[in-house]
Amino acid sequence: MKPIEQMQTPDPRNVEHWRADFPILGERVHGRPLVYLDNGATTQKPASVIYAENAYYRHSNANVHRGVHLLSQRATDSFEAARATIARFINAQRPEEIVFVRGTTEAINLVAQSYARPRIKPGDEILISAMEHHSNIVPWQLLCEQTGAALKVVPIDDTGALDADAYERLLSERTRLVAMTHLANALGSINPVERLVAASHARGVPVLLDGAQAIAHLPVDVHAIACDFYAFSGHKVYGPTGIGVLYGKAALLEAMPPWQGGGDMIRSVTFEKTEYNEIPWKFEAGTPNIAGAIALGAALDYVDSIGMEAIAAHENELLAYATDALRVIPGLRFIGTARDKASILSFVLDGVHAHDVGTILDHHGIAVRAGHHCAMPVMQRFGVPATVRASLALYNRHQDIDALIEGLGKVREIFGT
Ligand code: PMP
Repeated sequence: MKPIEQMQTPDPRNVEHWRADFPILGERVHGRPLVYLDNGATTQKPASVIYAENAYYRHSNANVHRGVHLLSQRATDSFEAARATIARFINAQRPEEIVFVRGTTEAINLVAQSYARPRIKPGDEILISAMEHHSNIVPWQLLCEQTGAALKVVPIDDTGALDADAYERLLSERTRLVAMTHLANALGSINPVERLVAASHARGVPVLLDGAQAIAHLPVDVHAIACDFYAFSGHKVYGPTGIGVLYGKAALLEAMPPWQGGGDMIRSVTFEKTEYNEIPWKFEAGTPNIAGAIALGAALDYVDSIGMEAIAAHENELLAYATDALRVIPGLRFIGTARDKASILSFVLDGVHAHDVGTILDHHGIAVRAGHHCAMPVMQRFGVPATVRASLALYNRHQDIDALIEGLGKVREIFGT
């Protein structure tokens, strides 16, 4: 990613155009205009994505890779075209390196069970960090239980940034895989992924990156990063739920056994022996989420039409505006202040539980997330039970932040803090 100062200057007029693409932003919540600041949980969908899903069911619905009839060919062409769009979006070398899955969680479990499990022995180590989402912790704990391997955790500092020296120290001759987030969902910290991958590769250790958050906020180039696996979910990048992507280097995917058995992942079956399909279909057992994949392609086309650099510049400007405005609220403490940070404002308010903050804000039409954000170890690291998290997307604007500030004023009035 380019340093922020080299990015395009955001044009505040754009945001109104972009907002017009998202029908749900016209909703009212408890009688107030919706202020949607829960994009880290899921993003809203532009009309082009809703249209793509609808048009598929109206004009092309059929099963893929099987029928000789026209609709099946249309469905297959659109499904495979979406795969090619995704490959281009993250700069994968070949569409076959894109495996459709349900989401980030499934992608990580696939790597744990299909790549790691056959290779891991007792005493081997998997390296993760202290800022991971549960989806990038629990699959590795399951793997450790199954194989006798050990989970090692790279610490983070008080700002929520990764301790890069500790990372290098913890990479040992026992490390078999690194699994690390690109952008931390509870903190907003951006990891220096190119550096981490280079250090890991120098020791012959492959790297999986959890891109669930990064995919919507940073330009992602898997070739430049040189990671071995990259996982993300469609719904966090303006696409539908139930569809996601595992990128894997072709040579690694080819060497991995299938994860699930069923239709579409086979070439031939007899009771004696089954021959598996080629990558990526080897990993896509059963009828896939065809409409979801096509709509995810439309979502990435939408993002491309604006440009990730323009989106990042807009969101960074908004993050700086929001940080300055929130910082002066008495009793507010940020959790996550790393220098390299994007899209996430996580905080606690003295004397008020995060859930109460979230509930009161909701009554003012403001959607934020309150809780542990599926990152309980992060909460433990900072000694808080929960935080309030406002998370940004391309359609957020200064008014949304002003509404949040006003809402927090109401919370403080109610609680007398
Ligand atoms: N990793 C991170 C960093 C996330 O933010 C999330 C979603 N909150 C996930 C993994 C899991 O994504 P999904 O639920 O779409 O599988």
